[in-house]
Amino acid sequence: MIKKVIGLLTFKNYINGKWVDSVSKKTLKDINPANQDIVCVVPASVKEDIDEAVKAAHEAFPKWKATPAPVRANILHRAAQLLEEKKDEVAKLMCREMGKVLQECLGDVQEGIDIGYYMAGEGRRLFGHTTPSELSNKTAFTMRVPIGVCALITPWNFPIAIPAWKTTAALVCGNTVVLKPSSDTPLCAAHFVELLHKACVPAGVVNMVTGTGETVGAELVQNKEVRAVSFTGSKTTGEWIAKSSGVKKIGLEMGGKNPIILMDDADLDLALEGVLWGAFGTTGQRCTAASRVIIHQKIFSRFEKMLVLAAKKLRLGSGLSSSTDVGPLINKQALEKSQHYVNIGLKDGARLLCGGKAGPKSGFFFQPTVFSNVSPKMRIAQEEIFGPIISLIKVKNLKEAIKVANSIEYGLSSSIYTNNISSAFKAINEIESGIVYVNASTIGAEVHLPFGGVKGTGNGVREAGIEGINEFSETKTVYIDYSGKLQRAQIDD
Ligand code: NAD
Repeated sequence: MIKKVIGLLTFKNYINGKWVDSVSKKTLKDINPANQDIVCVVPASVKEDIDEAVKAAHEAFPKWKATPAPVRANILHRAAQLLEEKKDEVAKLMCREMGKVLQECLGDVQEGIDIGYYMAGEGRRLFGHTTPSELSNKTAFTMRVPIGVCALITPWNFPIAIPAWKTTAALVCGNTVVLKPSSDTPLCAAHFVELLHKACVPAGVVNMVTGTGETVGAELVQNKEVRAVSFTGSKTTGEWIAKSSGVKKIGLEMGGKNPIILMDDADLDLALEGVLWGAFGTTGQRCTAASRVIIHQKIFSRFEKMLVLAAKKLRLGSGLSSSTDVGPLINKQALEKSQHYVNIGLKDGARLLCGGKAGPKSGFFFQPTVFSNVSPKMRIAQEEIFGPIISLIKVKNLKEAIKVANSIEYGLSSSIYTNNISSAFKAINEIESGIVYVNASTIGAEVHLPFGGVKGTGNGVREAGIEGINEFSETKTVYIDYSGKLQRAQIDD
């Protein structure tokens, strides 16, 4: 339960239906990135806490698995209703904890509500498929079954939406979970878990342990009772998890370096709004953020001027203020990383058109930054920066634009602005990414469609939509022979 102690919010780990102290008795501070105030103090957990949580999840699994899926779904439906009732309160807390502007925090919570209702609906579907057998008097079908204890490891940029995507899909399928939220946004996760508790999720079905990735996260993914790991975060951590988890079902959603292609027939006013939203929304800290604009040479100079004029007008500040367009970065390391990449861009010969510096000293602010004269192989055009920095790349035609779009290790989201249907379809077919937008920015996923990337972004797993069910369930194949005799598939009689 979340409490205020001497003016500070605090909570404990949630294990087996109870809020319990960490064995370590140590705590971590959760900092407001806009003013560096302490928002919350949370347990700095250790291996013993993880072992307890996994044990609780393991013991709760048989009963939860045997609970009819529509009954499991009713609990998710109730939790979604409770989150809807608390939408404003949770969004304001998110704004303090994570920094993005209030409108986006409200959107994040809304995504959590939407996925809750969507996955509650899945409780009455969870479809397998039926197909004819090659033999007479024999029936064949598949059914979806849960996997077991799932470790859910989440980042800080969607503090409600991502824990909700994973938890609701895992639970409706009949799994039990241990959630390890990011140390930068544990308070939102605790709110979400509290609502599941209020919605009467049985003890042990949902557990949450807070702490650092290196201790708590690493212990969780290596625990032998954990049967599946669902991770969203950086490529470095994801690769480590892939190597260290052993034989488990693993879902990895990692970084992006998402392009927007602007063709010479594009509506440039529309494209400008899309680029601003993609590059500077959430201060560039979305896995789907646009960080490269690949522009046809005929419109390059015009669009460059339009973008710089608009970027210079964006106002930095606390996400809670209605006059703020761009909030702070998440922490000091993120601020240093943005500054580091600006220095790299300058050293590599890119032209800084605006921004490039930290903002007000009170928080971790960084000015919206536009680089021109960027060549596709420069580091600022190749590596995920996760800050409000966009690179403009000039190309001669669509073929070159698609080549540049694909010349990176990631493949999450992409976009093309064009009024030519052939160009749009060529891009849809040839861009290497899990998500493609036409005449819209690189961000804006909806919960009933699959979400995920190709190449270095992920390992083929998709979250949300019907594919979110596949991540958290196994397929069981069933044959029923009612011929009353031995029938042998593939064997000639
Ligand atoms: P991160 O990898 O630093 O941390 C993610 C989570 O992993 C945190 O909970 C962290 O504590 C934990 N962790 C860290 N080390 C661990 C270890 N050794 N073992 C187990 N867990 C460990 O990432 P971040 O900074 O929180 O998030 C930003 C990254 O997430 C960006 O790269 C972004 O692109 C990516 N992201 C991807 C998606 C997607 O769906 N593809 C969505 C959001 C964010």
